[in-house]
Amino acid sequence: MLILVLNAGSSSLKYQLINPKTAEVKASGLCERIGIDGVMKHEIAEHRKLEIEQPMPTHKEAIEFVLNILTHDDTKVIENINEISAIGHRVVHGGEYFKKSTLITKDVLQKIEELIPLAPLHNPAHILGIKICQELMADKPNVAVFDTAFHQTMPEENYLYAVPHEDYIEHHLRKYGFHGTSHHYVSNEAINMLNKKESKVIVCHLGNGSSICAVKNGKSIDTTMGLTPLEGLVMGTRSGDIDAGVIPYLMDRKGMNSHEIVDYLNKKSGILGVSGISSDLREVLKEAEDGDHRAKICIEMMCNRIKKYICSYMGQLGGADAICFTAGIGENADVIREKVCTGLEFLGLEIDKKENKKRKSGNREIQKDSSKIKIFVIPTNEEYVIAKDTYNLVKKA
Ligand code: AMP
Repeated sequence: MLILVLNAGSSSLKYQLINPKTAEVKASGLCERIGIDGVMKHEIAEHRKLEIEQPMPTHKEAIEFVLNILTHDDTKVIENINEISAIGHRVVHGGEYFKKSTLITKDVLQKIEELIPLAPLHNPAHILGIKICQELMADKPNVAVFDTAFHQTMPEENYLYAVPHEDYIEHHLRKYGFHGTSHHYVSNEAINMLNKKESKVIVCHLGNGSSICAVKNGKSIDTTMGLTPLEGLVMGTRSGDIDAGVIPYLMDRKGMNSHEIVDYLNKKSGILGVSGISSDLREVLKEAEDGDHRAKICIEMMCNRIKKYICSYMGQLGGADAICFTAGIGENADVIREKVCTGLEFLGLEIDKKENKKRKSGNREIQKDSSKIKIFVIPTNEEYVIAKDTYNLVKKA
């Protein structure tokens, strides 16, 4: 059984063909510049990489091209599309409707459409991806795996904003949280590593987009992202937490409208805005090493914000059994892990600096023997979770 995992963006399409039982990835890739010209980056079983220019006027041609490359000529990894059992779609926003992954029916699709105002950039692209798959592979089930679903267990006091309650009732204004698939997977791995019945885990998903999640007994009780992915940590190009008063101030002083503000806070801020160098942390770390002041400040800001939330979530959880680091920065940037943990020894968090610096694959522990709290590095695998959820739902159905 093979599952095709799709993540359709507004002008892109990420895909993986996965065996959900073994986690083997048969092929993966990314179609970019859909509707502009079209480029596909394709990888076969992690050993052969291709870059192909291919006109992709719409997502339909992109998905057709993906199916074609999987089944034809020397890039063939399956004989025909009958070997694909189902399609798992990453869907950013499931609102309050979806607390877990679900088989896609007419009703489910309609609800994802209803949620467009909450995710105007993402949900329309996901819907398009789903509809094209239903058209091109009419006999195959489709499953939606939501970024928000894992956080639906947050208590009211954590998901409500301190604004007039009518706006929650009428306009669904609340914290939803994102990266749920990753937080779910990583916290689950951590709980297995802890081998404890009752657990308090804090997951730091630090990538281009970043969020932290407090997980009590396997359930999300709070997370840093909010109504949109803008809230919380300092990210690649997002500001994270900011005084809401900044918005009218900028509107008045710079004559910006709401679209320009959204662009400013989402695409021009964060690591890119503060450092003035790049949204890619590797470049900023390099400049900081060479003494660049803004690069250094940017890294301190980022780490302080992470520390602030770790402490806050330890307060809410009443301690922690493990702090987990995952995603591009969390898995690879030992400097950031060390900076975040240093100074938190008073909480019982002691990082082993040597162990932290070692480059190893798979799940690992980087705390000192004397540390009361475990520190885990756990590579995230969102596509695998989507494939597994899809497989389990299809098997049940
Ligand atoms: P992601 O969104 O999970 O792919 O993460 C992307 C971020 O991870 C970018 O800011 C990269 O600079 C960062 N990253 C990846 N590898 C490293 C590394 N070896 N050291 C520091 N940052 C890294």
